[in-house]
Amino acid sequence: MPRIVMKFGGTSMAGIERIRNVASRVRREAEAEAGNEVLVVVSAMAGETDRLVQLCREAAALSDPKEYDVVVASGEQVTSGLLAMTLQNMGVKARSFMGWQLVRASGVHGNARVEAIESATLDEALKGGTVAVIPGFQGVSEDGRVATLGRGGSDTSAVAIAAGVKADRCDIYTDVDGVYTTDPRIVPNARKLNQVTFDEMLELAGVGAKVLQVRSVGLAMRENMPLRVLSAFEDKPGTDIVAELSGAEMERNLIAGIAADRNEARITLTGIADTPGTVAATISPIAEAGIQVDMIVHAATPNTGSSDLTFTVPRASLAQAISVIEQRKDAIGYSDLVQDPSVAKVSIVGVGIRSNPALAAKMFETLAERRINLLAVSTSEIKVSALIAEDELELAVRVLHTAFGLDDQSAAA
Ligand code: ASP
Ligand code: MG
Repeated sequence: MPRIVMKFGGTSMAGIERIRNVASRVRREAEAEAGNEVLVVVSAMAGETDRLVQLCREAAALSDPKEYDVVVASGEQVTSGLLAMTLQNMGVKARSFMGWQLVRASGVHGNARVEAIESATLDEALKGGTVAVIPGFQGVSEDGRVATLGRGGSDTSAVAIAAGVKADRCDIYTDVDGVYTTDPRIVPNARKLNQVTFDEMLELAGVGAKVLQVRSVGLAMRENMPLRVLSAFEDKPGTDIVAELSGAEMERNLIAGIAADRNEARITLTGIADTPGTVAATISPIAEAGIQVDMIVHAATPNTGSSDLTFTVPRASLAQAISVIEQRKDAIGYSDLVQDPSVAKVSIVGVGIRSNPALAAKMFETLAERRINLLAVSTSEIKVSALIAEDELELAVRVLHTAFGLDDQSAAA
């Protein structure tokens, strides 16, 4: 019998009316003609986890992470019980579990990792035709305490449980109906993708398409667990997230989407000696400070003995990065330090980039036609990114979306 995991986010669980809607979707899958074994993973009601985090802050500015977890994990306990009783009330056999019964976690409290799933406990419930309702976001740590998986962590719970019980697929029901070619707030006729690969999704998610917690996509990729993102409110096909495109989708556009990221700030050091070790002397202390360096462009000016280094850091970390560098001015030996917080990154993402160098050229030509200046460029197998002025970001996204044939022709412009 097919085994499926259905995950519902906070908006879908916000209130009894919505929980009833969720329950009827669950019933439909559980009572489908072929019959399905169904596991449901739920989030807390929208806004509830924020409220609980705030209560912890009020109680103690620096709280014990183990007690923080006891508090913030409670939101999912409430929704699990409510959904199980709603299902029972509809005549569907269901029961809830708590994280400590099923999900073994390790690492730091408040941001723990899933180590293992007690699948035997679940197997037993499922064999008896019971729907298992499981709170997302929580597990039990090695020391036997409640542990949470980091904000947005119930996506990761769902994928880990799906992998642990060898489910056939993991459906993520949310308040959007799929993954789009770009942010529909920038391009109203962005198109919903039928399929996207795990690695494309990672690039699109990492740069703003916040449909799924990035960690859950990485886990699904490692476990080869097919995901589907779909609306909790409307019956519409969603987006399949898969290892490789199949069927008609193989003929899909070479570019899956355009990602936009405003969370970048640029630092340039000029007049660095053109000798081994200068890039390491700059980047290592920044990494040691826990700051994520994104784009790095380093080039020596031939025959001058001098080089320039440009890199980007998250905007919120700019001041800290500058102070780390200034403290090491003598060791690095640069002449000028220039910072610019008003930059943004636009990227084309798609498995087609691997085999088609003309796509990067087309991106640069498209931006040049609009006189958008490139401050830095970086590439990976499936992504080309350009750093540009922040106030040109929306224009860049729109022209690239059109140039790569992504506009939805059927929608009114
Ligand atoms: N309720 C948790 C949060 O808001 C986990 C989740 O919903 O994914 O972060
Ligand atoms: Mg979420």
